[in-house]
Amino acid sequence: MNYFLTDDQKMIKDLAAQIAREKIAPIAAELDETGEFPHEIVKVLAQSDLFRVFIPTEYEGLGGGMFDMCLVVEELSKACGGIALAYAASGLGTIPIILFGTEEQKKKYLPRLASGEILAAFGLTESGAGSDAASIKTTAKPDGDSYVLNGTKQWITNGGEASIYTVIALTDPARGVRGSSALLVEKGTPGFDFGKKENKMGIRASVTRELVFQDCRVPKSSILSKEGMGFLVAMRTLDQSRPGVAAQALGIAQGALDKAVEYSRERHQFGKPISSFQGLQFMMADMATQVEAARALTYSVARAVDAGEKDVSRMSAMAKVFASDTAMRVTTDAVQIFGGYGYMKDYPMEKMMRDAKITQIYEGTNQIQREVIALGLIKESVRGKK
Ligand SMILES: Cc1cc2nc3c(=O)[nH]c(=O)nc-3n(C[C@H](O)[C@H](O)[C@H](O)COP(=O)(O)OP(=O)(O)OC[C@H]3O[C@@H](n4cnc5c(N)ncnc54)[C@H](O)[C@@H]3O)c2cc1C
Repeated sequence: MNYFLTDDQKMIKDLAAQIAREKIAPIAAELDETGEFPHEIVKVLAQSDLFRVFIPTEYEGLGGGMFDMCLVVEELSKACGGIALAYAASGLGTIPIILFGTEEQKKKYLPRLASGEILAAFGLTESGAGSDAASIKTTAKPDGDSYVLNGTKQWITNGGEASIYTVIALTDPARGVRGSSALLVEKGTPGFDFGKKENKMGIRASVTRELVFQDCRVPKSSILSKEGMGFLVAMRTLDQSRPGVAAQALGIAQGALDKAVEYSRERHQFGKPISSFQGLQFMMADMATQVEAARALTYSVARAVDAGEKDVSRMSAMAKVFASDTAMRVTTDAVQIFGGYGYMKDYPMEKMMRDAKITQIYEGTNQIQREVIALGLIKESVRGKK
């Protein structure tokens, strides 16, 4: 399908595809095994200016926004969803600075994020606050010109590798989530440490760690937006970043489909390529249709975000749900097309299936996204009746 990419977007997509093919694909299985962070690939992405694509031009970015970021994430994910996440999660950590940062904060961090010199991360989740993110317990007590952070954030992507973290904490615990604020915390700040690296089922090249705060003092100037706006900062950020998860899912699904079609042409049974059996042809036709539908939805939502569409929560949730459910179905069917070989670690299919699973869970589970979609529908219906 023609998605009418500009010449710049075609160039970005081709460059990301080339890096995926030449640099990521050859090491994806090894990093999946070792769980090592892809430092070398991050360097390549930085040298190729791909961290610049979603950052405004005033801060040394290319000004492309979420759509361009999605193009990169999709291409990288075709080769490895985990490596792609190191890039995408830095985007997630950068969005709140772009949306809510002061001029001073933007000037301080965005050029370095654009060049890929530093990575960002986003810390909302805690052990007792996952889907129910409003029940966070980490505090940031105002004290003179500072906030003093105490608490632990769980499962933070790029934890330990990123240099700058957007952390949601309670500056006024008595007001619950209405007393939450978003703070920028730099790695190396005394009292800010990292927990152990998690041993994950998939996306193993990405790093997931706890952020541990013990009397960690940050200046009051590190706040994004205002006191009490932390939850809003988090929700607006996630609305904008969810097409990025959809793009990751889409890339994994497309990568699995491509490999399954190729394998079906090469593998012979009953004296014929297995691609000649209608049972598999119908399966591949459904996989391709679902992938294309996921792409159309993801691209249109990312474009709506960039166009400044006011309320993107529902659309963003739809793209994330549809693309991630597609990725899970398509990678499962791709394993099926590979037969027993699909189950073996010598082939990339089982990794793609493991990598796909997380896209249904993080940045809000698909159950929560369906709730967002349904509540939006109901509200609209009530408004229509008035
Ligand atoms: C690898 C990885 C990386 C992550 N990276 C980050 C990160 O960078 N930053 C960050 O802040 N967080 C991150 N997370 C956290 C992630 O966003 C949460 O895991 C996710 O929001 C779900 O929370 P939970 O795991 O506590 O599940 P729970 O909230 O405990 O949910 C358990 C089950 O109950 C269901 N459920 C819960 N409430 C409802 C409801 N109201 N209706 C229907 N079903 C419901 C859920 O859908 C799920 O199936 C990461 C997680 C993982 C695993």
